[in-house]
Amino acid sequence: MPSYDPENIFAKILRGEIPSHKIFEDEHTYAFMDIMPQADGHALVITKAGSRNLLDADPSVFAPLMATVQKVARAAQKAFGVEGVLIKQFNEADAGQTVYHLHVHVIPRPAGTLLKPHSGKMADHSLLAEHAGKYRAALAEA
Ligand code: AMP
Repeated sequence: MPSYDPENIFAKILRGEIPSHKIFEDEHTYAFMDIMPQADGHALVITKAGSRNLLDADPSVFAPLMATVQKVARAAQKAFGVEGVLIKQFNEADAGQTVYHLHVHVIPRPAGTLLKPHSGKMADHSLLAEHAGKYRAALAEA
């Protein structure tokens, strides 16, 4: 497996070199909107540690990462009025990974709807900003 590349796009987001629609941040994790959402409210939670994916990560990153995933998933229920929330995570290209910095997808699933394609169409930035705001409001109430 190749080694972690600190020039990947999520590392650049963490360093503030490229913009993102931020939802939440703590010492170990960062959550923001996926730019090509598979559903309204599709969010990503990343660790601040440098690892490609789950396979090369130090196990100490998982507890804080999943704690933030749970926080964001609960906020998704409230912000997007859903009961169902899909959590998914890809490891290496054959499994569908396209960005090589450990991240977890949080996708609200309204009943009876289909998911849009993975890494499909870029969303409008104003819509992503609005959805990030809904998350932040839900988190502020929690
Ligand atoms: P994967 O590596 O397959 O788990 O997916 C990477 C995800 O990152 C995809 O869902 C992309 O839509 C998303 N993505 C790629 N570039 C950006 C970006 N600059 N900001 C937010 N999301 C991104």
